Amino acid sequence: MDEKHGSEVERRITSDDVVVRNGEEDFRLAPDETGPVGTFLAPVAGFGVSMSSMFRPSRTDQYPFKKSPTQPRYHGRHQLNRYADGLEKCIGCELCAWACPADAILVEAGTNSPGEQYSPGERYGRVYQINYLRCIFCGYCIEACPTRALTMSNEFELAGPSREGLIYEKSDLLAPLEDGMLAAPHPMVAGTTDGDYYRGDVDGPTAEQVEWVAERRPSDPTLASAREAVSRAAQTEGAAR
Ligand code: SF4
Ligand code: SF4
Repeated sequence: MDEKHGSEVERRITSDDVVVRNGEEDFRLAPDETGPVGTFLAPVAGFGVSMSSMFRPSRTDQYPFKKSPTQPRYHGRHQLNRYADGLEKCIGCELCAWACPADAILVEAGTNSPGEQYSPGERYGRVYQINYLRCIFCGYCIEACPTRALTMSNEFELAGPSREGLIYEKSDLLAPLEDGMLAAPHPMVAGTTDGDYYRGDVDGPTAEQVEWVAERRPSDPTLASAREAVSRAAQTEGAAR
């Protein structure tokens, strides 16, 4: 009886279980005891899995012609997200790079200025690279990100013809501008702080932001949909009053 844990010890360790390796004592793994039936069936036991699989329906994925959907939380290619007004969520803090066990991420921060504001707050990710030759898709980086700028998509087709092609740049990773978003750089929504952005209080571009971009980049392709989003928001606000 094992007095400390109150359980029956099945078999005591004897000197036969101890082997000496490189001058140090180690334990030998005792073989499982098998009865006569087990001994008789042992040579064919390994075929059990093969035999049981023979009668299951076979499943052949017609990839790449037909792609099977992944699980919703599948860890695929990364994505750098944006706020609803188009500003980038990445603040260049490098926490994702520090959390990465494979040293696959390179971040260099830049400083936002009144004329070139890419993200709320002081800094933005000026350089952002992920080396998919190193990445093991563990997801530590997305857990470390304080602004949910970095998430992982379900995209799994990451093969490429060259090693350089598997180093994804910021332009490859940035989420596309959705309908109504205004391309950065542009100022933050007037009267807000970066905390308001983090809390989700900004739900789209404002007329001031659209005007700012129209003055400096009149041919910006996102202006039209941002204007529509501003007018939709004004109508909704008017109807709610
Ligand atoms: S998923 Fe893991 S290995 Fe890949 S970049 Fe993120 S932390 Fe690094
Ligand atoms: S992706 Fe997130 S953790 Fe990485 S630098 Fe940007 S804000 Fe920081």
